[in-house]
Amino acid sequence: MTPRKVLFVNHTSTVSGAEMVLLDVAPAFAGSAAFLFEQGALNQQLEQRGVRVFSSRFGAGFSRLKRDSRAISAVPMAGRMIGVVAELAHLAREYDVIYANSQKAFTLASLAAGIARRPLIWHLHDILDKTHFAAKQRQLQVYLANRNARAVITPSLAVEQAFVAEGGNPELANVIPNGLDLDADPIPKTILRRQLDLPSGPLIGVFSRIAPWKGQHVVIRALANLTNVRCIIVGSPLFGEDDYANSLKILVARLGLQDRVHFLGQRSDIPQLMQAVDIVVHPSVSPEPFGRTLVEAMLVRSPLIATDAGAAREILAPDAVNMLVPPGDTAALVNAIRQVFSGAAGLPSQLDAAQTRAKDFYGLAKMRAAIARVVEHAVNNKNRTSLQAHQPTNTSFASTVL
Ligand code: UDP
Repeated sequence: MTPRKVLFVNHTSTVSGAEMVLLDVAPAFAGSAAFLFEQGALNQQLEQRGVRVFSSRFGAGFSRLKRDSRAISAVPMAGRMIGVVAELAHLAREYDVIYANSQKAFTLASLAAGIARRPLIWHLHDILDKTHFAAKQRQLQVYLANRNARAVITPSLAVEQAFVAEGGNPELANVIPNGLDLDADPIPKTILRRQLDLPSGPLIGVFSRIAPWKGQHVVIRALANLTNVRCIIVGSPLFGEDDYANSLKILVARLGLQDRVHFLGQRSDIPQLMQAVDIVVHPSVSPEPFGRTLVEAMLVRSPLIATDAGAAREILAPDAVNMLVPPGDTAALVNAIRQVFSGAAGLPSQLDAAQTRAKDFYGLAKMRAAIARVVEHAVNNKNRTSLQAHQPTNTSFASTVL
């Protein structure tokens, strides 16, 4: 198959989960390029992977527009938005397809695609619901998708269902889970802890960017009821959530947990850190669209406790569902952590099953192949039927992987 020339578009150059997916997908399309609204870490990382990068002259500052803010707040930026659309439309003529990797990128790309007469794919990484987006924003996104997109890629059924619930055309949607390949040779915990300067004894870890909806505060509150347990909080506030980050430190001090909660900041050795802790906790209080962190924990065979919102139920192995706890429920989290430390959960065979599932369903090659099929289909077919490239999981959820 001739590789299609894809123009990837992203509004932010800060690297969070969606940009990690872009870094995995874009290099698979030879001759493709990325158009980024701003300069930042993503520019260099894409270039290091051989992807040509174009930076907008007008797009800086769009990432500071809050996605739950009212449409009126975007008005002062109208002139610059027109500039970005013009840049994109001009560039798009050199490419077979436009591939918007973020919600803000999609809004402007959908206008540019119409002008340049190029098919448009939206990789929708977010749950379009009221906890994440204002009503007008959701309506606009869905309207543009139904009108202009040739395909919508979602990483989970949870994202697809939210899109459809908002009025999105189900025929556009293709569920393609994020694919990850981790290079993590198993290393004994004691050695890792020494190497990483981590404390001995019962240790749990949270591995997410710092943001209110990621729920780090719930884990800190739970720690107050788990006398001997320590916790590492890994990640930083990537999108201006500094007040929340400060509030976590205040909470730790108020609860007298300074000796047991360790903030490690943004790290690039996540597989090692995950193997060094006894339990990975993923405490999001709003629905998680995917949660790469969940798959990473499964790949390194870590016991995992996640909140039952969004895609976690799809991703965890059927047996793992009893390690799902209600979002924001401190008492349930305390119980689940106690259960794992008591040995009632986390059997080696169950961890093996979780790892196998992660490898079977969430491999990088599988994601790339499924996306290539959607790209090909979008270029070849003017009608906008979904290819349903990859249905990720069984839907019979029983009780536990741990
Ligand atoms: N991550 C990282 N360093 C950190 C914290 C997180 O590399 O200090 C990675 C984490 O391992 C995962 C990604 O950031 O691969 C977050 O993706 P996820 O889908 O869990 O959440 P998102 O940020 O997209 O909401």
